[in-house]
Amino acid sequence: MTMNEETLRQGLVTVMREMDASGLNHGTAGNASARLGEHFLVTPSGIPAGQLTPDSIVEIDLSGKYEGSFRPTSEWRMHAGLLAGRPDVNAVVHCHSQYATTLACANKPIPPLHYMTAVSGGAEILVAPYALFGSAELADAVIATLKGRRACLMANHGQIALGRSLPEALMIAREVEVQASFYYGTLAIGGPTLLSSEQMEAVVGAFLSYGQKPVKPD
Ligand SMILES: [Zn+2]
Repeated sequence: MTMNEETLRQGLVTVMREMDASGLNHGTAGNASARLGEHFLVTPSGIPAGQLTPDSIVEIDLSGKYEGSFRPTSEWRMHAGLLAGRPDVNAVVHCHSQYATTLACANKPIPPLHYMTAVSGGAEILVAPYALFGSAELADAVIATLKGRRACLMANHGQIALGRSLPEALMIAREVEVQASFYYGTLAIGGPTLLSSEQMEAVVGAFLSYGQKPVKPD
């Protein structure tokens, strides 16, 4: 096993534990993946975050073929499809966080009520259409909704976030949950005042030059 693989396996365990500890996820819900060369590492099916170990992480290929005694997450199609189709992405995080899922169950995209909705790669955080969990139809719906974006809600299900690394994907999932809670809160007090498309374009421009080095747009 290469050092990179060991690091990624441990990283997937850490990301699942952090989602559990921070309340983004609970029980065996949610899953995560990372690119490993031509293959993908995904979390196993049906194991709570507290019982995950680096050895229980499953290596799969695009057809879902795997070795070992742990079955990959039922959502492997969604993860493999995203990583295969998005060379700008190395990690995927999916969870059923409270506010994002509440809005997803009401089929409400998050409008640009706060400048950080731009973390999704667009002014608005969209909702992917509903399909059965684990189905190829759901993978296709999520992949299409995420075109050129970093995060979306999943109707009647949850949310999903993409990153160049696992910590970045987790950071985006956390921000989506925060934005969902803001939107939910404003709906209770008469609805949000939205930013204009010019204001949101300026945010995206500022994001590109923010931080240590320029970020390449999708
Ligand atoms: Zn799910």
